[in-house]
Amino acid sequence: MNVHDSQKIAALMEDSGYASVNDVREADLIIINTCSIREKAAQKVYSQLGRLRKFKERKPNLIIGVGGCLAQQLGSKLIEKVPYLDLVFGTHNIHSLPDSITTIEKTGRTLVRTDFQESVESLGIVAPSDNGKVTSFVTIMQGCNNFCSYCVVPQVRGREESRSLSDIVKEVTVLASRGIKEVTLLGQNVNSYGKTIGEGYDFAELLHEICLIGGIERIRFTTSHPKDLSDRLVRCFSEVDKLCEHIHLPVQTGSDRVLGMMNRLYTRADYLDKVYKLRAACPGISITSDIIVGFPGETDRDFQATIDMMGKIRFDNLFSFKYSQRDGTAAAKLSDEITERVKSDRLKIVQALQEKHTLERNEATRGNAEEILVEEISKNSQEDVTGRTRTNKIVNFRGSRELIGRTVTVLITDAYQHSLRGRLLNVN
Ligand code: SAM
Ligand code: SF4
Repeated sequence: MNVHDSQKIAALMEDSGYASVNDVREADLIIINTCSIREKAAQKVYSQLGRLRKFKERKPNLIIGVGGCLAQQLGSKLIEKVPYLDLVFGTHNIHSLPDSITTIEKTGRTLVRTDFQESVESLGIVAPSDNGKVTSFVTIMQGCNNFCSYCVVPQVRGREESRSLSDIVKEVTVLASRGIKEVTLLGQNVNSYGKTIGEGYDFAELLHEICLIGGIERIRFTTSHPKDLSDRLVRCFSEVDKLCEHIHLPVQTGSDRVLGMMNRLYTRADYLDKVYKLRAACPGISITSDIIVGFPGETDRDFQATIDMMGKIRFDNLFSFKYSQRDGTAAAKLSDEITERVKSDRLKIVQALQEKHTLERNEATRGNAEEILVEEISKNSQEDVTGRTRTNKIVNFRGSRELIGRTVTVLITDAYQHSLRGRLLNVN
């Protein structure tokens, strides 16, 4: 979501006459789009801003702005901490950015814009700043109503609101006309899409509608909350032929006790049941997840329940994190903090196990003829191109620029931790 917001910021500024530069020393405007999901992300912002101070001293007209979740959370407090900032803008103030910059250019004033007034309808497409891409994100909703006890998102991105189905379909149609072949639909909990519109729309219906759009070959989405993963959405994996066989379904922990404290509103058995249903409806589906270790009060037994769950499911991939206390969340009031040492040890165990599972899953694709959408020239070799399987695994193979945007069949010959290697069989 943040990557997509940054793309929108770049595109909006290009529309207002700015051009991007490769060297930060040449910039007249620097915007940092921030994340505050964990303390580590917030710390990165401060060290980045520290490095920018000398640029501002050398070039007083340089405008430095900070947007995103940390900006939303801190507002004018960020100016107190970093007095050489010109602009702080929140998660609902992206579209007014060109206007904010013009005001600063004219008046030299420092601005703080963090109100939640920007409407959900302004989340739509802005001119693309990266022509030639064949995949695109599409925001279908903003905010979150779930209040998982550890999570700052409802605070910094506001309450859940869905865009209208017709606006989303219009945006995807425009993207298709610009050569986009694959869209990833974005929301904190896509499975509750439509609830705030109240016209009987749901996410499954949106998937069926997008499937009808000519030129779009692949549909992905992220993220789906396990408690809301409906049987109807599970069926979409067998009914909607453009829907790729991958789901990111964050479990967070395998312990019912910790799930309760996290306010996730499902049990370990519920989650396993959803996984079985997904695999029954779509046998080749890849399942990825998020896990937090060291939630306050997590015992060795709770942690073992997570390890046991990982063994039962064998995720294709996993994002794993040490619990990070966030101000204003319910979990911040819990006293039973786990030491940094224990968190690090548990994270290492989770990551080592996941590496094993990822490699096993990748190796199982060896010998398969996989459908790949070619996205770009490989970062490692000019003679190779890169794309993804429908199950979202990166594949590199010998091929030229002309293949970008084409769907091809590739025989998988080698499997590694982070990617696969293959040989082109045919261009579909
Ligand atoms: N909306 C998505 C969902 O519920 O699955 C996830 C959104 S969040 C941006 C991405 C991941 O960050 C979460 O799934 C969780 O694992 C992790 N996360 C959120 N708050 C955290 C915290 N305070 N400490 C550590 N990890 C956290
Ligand atoms: Fe955060 Fe939970 Fe909402 Fe995901 S569903 S954004 S983890 S509050």
